[in-house]
Amino acid sequence: MFCPSCGLNDENSNQFCRACGTNLAPVRNAVERGDALTQSAANARDEIGRAFAARIRQAQTAAELKMVAEDVLPKVEEFLESPEEKKLRRIRTGTILGGIGAGAAIPFGIIAAILGKEEFFFLGAAGVVCFFIGLSFIINAIFASVPKKLVADRSEDAERQAAIDRSTSDLQLPESRQEFVSVIEETTRNLQK
Ligand SMILES: [Zn+2]
Repeated sequence: MFCPSCGLNDENSNQFCRACGTNLAPVRNAVERGDALTQSAANARDEIGRAFAARIRQAQTAAELKMVAEDVLPKVEEFLESPEEKKLRRIRTGTILGGIGAGAAIPFGIIAAILGKEEFFFLGAAGVVCFFIGLSFIINAIFASVPKKLVADRSEDAERQAAIDRSTSDLQLPESRQEFVSVIEETTRNLQK
């Protein structure tokens, strides 16, 4: 990672920049947490949360409140979850469905085979279907969950950041400053000269 303040390449993940002393920890957190919500997403989350709080306050009857709590909030939760959370939820659903399916298919299949009864065979088949639905959830979670980073961000913030990146990409430190090891080293080198 490069220090945002002086441009020094920090290879050892130090907390502070060795050249200018800038605290790199917050920058590193922001850069390296791939799944982190961007500030605008966090703001949107807050806004939606406030809107819902207002809506809940307006609820006149218990039935209305129940409707909000049971039908609307889980949907909002789903909408706001990060890709990583979404992936985990899909894997969880898939594992449960697959487990139930396998749990039903195996005993019913064995019973059907031993007793030769069709009813049990159908129950076993239903278990197999359930198992494969669960499996498809897991496959979907692993291969089809698109991390937000891969989805083009067309927000105003992103445009502005891209403009800044374009205008600063060719900025280079002078040769001598690129080999900084520490603030003190530069001082002592000059003393030697
Ligand atoms: Zn620095």
